[in-house]
Amino acid sequence: LSTLKIAIGAMELTKKCVRDVMTDIDDVFMLSEDQVLNAETMTRISDSGYTRIPVYEGNNRNKVKNLLYVSDLALIGKDNNITVKAVARFNKRRLRIVDETMPLTALMDEFKMGDYHLAMVAKAMDVKKHHHGKFVDDSMDSFIMKSMKLVEATMLPPHSEDHPITLVGLVTLEDITEELLQSEITDE
Ligand code: ADP
Repeated sequence: LSTLKIAIGAMELTKKCVRDVMTDIDDVFMLSEDQVLNAETMTRISDSGYTRIPVYEGNNRNKVKNLLYVSDLALIGKDNNITVKAVARFNKRRLRIVDETMPLTALMDEFKMGDYHLAMVAKAMDVKKHHHGKFVDDSMDSFIMKSMKLVEATMLPPHSEDHPITLVGLVTLEDITEELLQSEITDE
């Protein structure tokens, strides 16, 4: 892999946003908090091959509030019938929700700071509509307002009745690095 190719990949990255590289929500492997960690669920988890699994409340896949690490399951017996909720709440893995329009470079900066390398992605409209818990009209969109939204977009609260969000995907550091290395040099 040439240095040139990586340099071009890095330049391409500045034009892209989270939505361009995320894994679509329909392809995200998640578990409900209510699920019991029996032999069948444990097999599904290990068959998925993922190391981190978003956990949602009840049956609402927009209500992702926790993250389960496969390594958290190491000490759990298959016969104890513990719920996902018990394990996820005990380990309290950091979960972030970002706006789908967040620039990739901004997310990369956050990932570089190091305390999390996976984020759930929310539909942009939801963020705008519920900025600071108040409805925000497009016509009021000043530059400052937009910048504030961008900052806030990196720390969205999870789904609630006052602040409903629609999740559209999941993004990890891997998605960004892959994008960096994949970009083709197109001859124009
Ligand atoms: P892992 O450590 O689980 O292999 P990576 O961070 O290496 O995850 O990501 C590999 C790819 O899998 C990325 O495209 C990422 O978006 C996707 N991914 C990660 N976790 C999940 C999940 N729970 N469900 C679906 N896709 C996932």
